[in-house]
Amino acid sequence: MRQSLCCARRAELQISGMPWILTVEEPPAAYVHRYRGHVIERVLPLAEARRICAGMGAPADACAWTAKGVCHIVIPRNGPVRDLKTYHRHELAHCNGWDHAHGLAEVFRSFEAK
Ligand SMILES: [Zn+2]
Repeated sequence: MRQSLCCARRAELQISGMPWILTVEEPPAAYVHRYRGHVIERVLPLAEARRICAGMGAPADACAWTAKGVCHIVIPRNGPVRDLKTYHRHELAHCNGWDHAHGLAEVFRSFEAK
């Protein structure tokens, strides 16, 4: 049984003056810690990561969900964000219960609710 489909982490386009920087939203410190359980992390080519995340209901480059107490994380190897650690922190935070209300996440939520 799938417990909760944690929202997907998407690369967000942020403007900090110029130039444009492609980054992943940093989770709050309270959710940045080890997951209490097994973590299955898959680093896949971008197209494959997108396909799996879409199949999980998350139209994004990376996603995470928990099932039977196991945290599943899918991270794109050659995505727009080079630093895989930021992807990892973000997705793991979702497994730890983080739920962010952010622009792109709102898109995901409405998608999930339909
Ligand atoms: Zn997210």
